[in-house]
Amino acid sequence: MNAAFSRSWKHAVVTGGAGFVGSHLCTALLDSGAAVTCVDDFTTGRPENISGLRDRPGFELVRASVCEPFTVDRPPDLVLHFASPASPADYLRLPLHTMETGSLGTRNALALAHESGARFLLASTSEVYGDPQQHPQNERYRGNVNPVGPRSVYDEAKRFGEALTTAQADAHGTDTGIVRLFNTYGPRMRGHDGRAVPTFISQALAGEPLTVTGDGHQTRSLCYVDDTVRGILAAAAHGLRGPVNIGNPTEITMLDLARLVVELTGSTSEVRFIERPTDDPAVRCPDITLARDKLEWEPRVSAEEGLLRTIDWFRAHTD
Ligand code: NAD
Repeated sequence: MNAAFSRSWKHAVVTGGAGFVGSHLCTALLDSGAAVTCVDDFTTGRPENISGLRDRPGFELVRASVCEPFTVDRPPDLVLHFASPASPADYLRLPLHTMETGSLGTRNALALAHESGARFLLASTSEVYGDPQQHPQNERYRGNVNPVGPRSVYDEAKRFGEALTTAQADAHGTDTGIVRLFNTYGPRMRGHDGRAVPTFISQALAGEPLTVTGDGHQTRSLCYVDDTVRGILAAAAHGLRGPVNIGNPTEITMLDLARLVVELTGSTSEVRFIERPTDDPAVRCPDITLARDKLEWEPRVSAEEGLLRTIDWFRAHTD
C-alpha cells in the first residue's frame, strides 16, 4: 500500500464485496487490520470469491440488495460502494437492476455513510466518458454518452451516482469521494463475463479461437487489480473528493491483447473477428495526472506480469 496515503480503518462496509474488485478490496482491508462487512446480493458475485474470508476474524457477510435500505451490525468508518453489474454482458441482461443499483443503491449506501459519520467512496467508471472525443481522458472531460443507447443503463446509472454523491456532500456535508475506474483485470474474474481479458484467456486455454470484435484496433487501458485496489484505498485514505481516474495509461489494441494472451498462454488458438457491439468506445485511456499528484499513486504491474498472474489463476480454477 502507498505509505503516504494509507489509513487504519476500524470497520469498512464493502457493497458488492463478493464481486471481482470488491473481494480483493475486502482482502486488502482485512489484511490492513480493518473489520469488513461485505454486503452483496450475489447477482454477479460468487460465494467462492469470499470463501477464503468467511473464517477470518472481523469478516461479516450481509446477503442483501443495496436497492433496499440495509443495516450492518455496527457503524462503519468507511463505506466503499462497489455493488453494480459491471460487465456489458451483465448489465445488458440486467438493465433495470443496474439502474436501480446505481440510483437507489447509491442513495442507501450514502445514507449508511452519513448516519455513521463514515467516509464514502463511489466506484464510478471510465464509462462516464462514453465514446470519448478527448484522448486521453482527464477528469474535467464531460463525456460522450448516448442516453438511450444499449450501454446507457450502466453509463447513466454511474453518472447519476456521481451526481447523487456530489449532492449528498453539498447538502449534508457527508465525506464523499468518487473513483473512476478504468478496465481492471485479474484473478476472480468470471471466464465468460464478456470482458476481453477473461474471455481471451478462457478461449486460449480451451484452444478455441479468440473472438476479437470489429477490426480489433479499438484500444483499452488495462490495470491489474492489485494496482486498482491500491489506488482505491489511497483515494479513501486521502479524503479527496474527486472524481479521480484510477487506471493504467498503457494503451493496447484488442488485437494486440489477443495476440499477447495467445503468446503468454502458449496456445495454438487463432483470432476470429466478430461484430462490434453498438456504442463500443473506440479508445479508452486515463490521464492519471491527478492521481499521481494528489495520491502519489500510479500502476506498478506491467501487462505481461498481470496477464501471467491472471493466466496462472485461470489455469488453477478452470475445470
Ligand atoms: P462484479 O460484477 O464482479 O461485482 C459486482 C458485485 O456487486 C457482485 O458481487 C454483485 O453480486 C454485486 N451486486 C450487484 N448488484 C447488487 C445489489 N443491488 N445489491 C448488492 N450487491 C449487488 O463487478 P466488478 O468488476 O467487481 O465491479 C465492481 C465495481 O467496480 C462496480 O461498481 C463497477 O461499476 C466498478 N468498475 C469496475 C471496473 C472493472 O474493470 N472491473 C471498471 C470500472 C468500474
